[in-house]
Amino acid sequence: MNLDNLFDGVLSGKRRHLAKAITLVESKKASDKHLASELLSRLMPYTGKSIRLGISGVPGAGKSTFIEAFGSYLIGKGHKVAVLAVDPTSQISGGSILGDKTRMEGLSKSDNAFIRPSPSGDSLGGVARKTREAMLLCEAAGYDFIIIETVGVGQSEITVSNMVDIFTLIQVPNTGDELQGMKRGIMEIADIILINKSEGDNRTKAELAKKQIEFALHLTLEQNDIWQTPVLLVSALTSDGIEEFWHKVEKFIDLMKNAGKFDKKRGEQNLAWMWSYIMDTLKDDLMSNKEVKHLISNYTSDVKSGKVNPTTAGEAILRCFYSSIK
Ligand code: GDP
Repeated sequence: MNLDNLFDGVLSGKRRHLAKAITLVESKKASDKHLASELLSRLMPYTGKSIRLGISGVPGAGKSTFIEAFGSYLIGKGHKVAVLAVDPTSQISGGSILGDKTRMEGLSKSDNAFIRPSPSGDSLGGVARKTREAMLLCEAAGYDFIIIETVGVGQSEITVSNMVDIFTLIQVPNTGDELQGMKRGIMEIADIILINKSEGDNRTKAELAKKQIEFALHLTLEQNDIWQTPVLLVSALTSDGIEEFWHKVEKFIDLMKNAGKFDKKRGEQNLAWMWSYIMDTLKDDLMSNKEVKHLISNYTSDVKSGKVNPTTAGEAILRCFYSSIK
């Protein structure tokens, strides 16, 4: 498949072409990187017309069940839904939390859904950048609702919240640690909080959890002038609360657009991505520079043992890098 072929295929919404284009973007080969970058620039004018939703929660909270239910609901309303994932656990544990089981089987059969597991990468930054580029490709292919799923590990939630328009945290009642997200500062970045598994016998516990979270939000969050993070009870299993969630998403997007904050946020996100690209590339170039590599290995033990001051070592390494690229 050549570049023109891929370009036409993606633009006309062909899934095979979209999948190939994402593989190209994920590739580490230098020749592929060049092609990927050209493909992305040509498709850029056709991107950006979707709603980008981030979903996070601990393993077992019900993310994939919820995405299956919500994704099907959206498709019923005429949307085309792409589900992407940011899972940095593949490089931590050797196995991926989000990718190991068969997920969203119903949704994956729909012609209007496209599901792609997390790319593997050597850093969260790398995984996230590839996912962001996959998101742009999905938009060019006509997907107007992009769901980016992540798992509550380290920085991944913050990273995902920086690439979406609206960020949702899924909690479960009765774990006794409803306020865990609060301690980790995650609730502060959530635009909507869902308490999943709120059906049947769980209802009372879920209502209690809702009250606790609302109280904690009230105490800790600065009141936003246009939006107060709602806490909704849902059941991904029975689809209860899905419609209410959709209305909140719509309302949030409308409010942001009307206040001029929607485009502003995307603009700021674009700028942040440019900088993270520059920083990552600089670091890669520095680390892969032959002379610098040698110097780094010489300095490592001396800095560790306290023989050489970190600043002195850092300066020497940078000097070596700059003079080698001159
Ligand atoms: P994930 O790890 O966050 O993607 O969680 P899953 O979607 O795989 O769900 C974990 C378990 O919770 C599965 O056994 C689901 O069937 C179950 N589950 C998910 N949503 C609900 C719900 O709304 N109610 C109940 N009772 N169980 C649910």
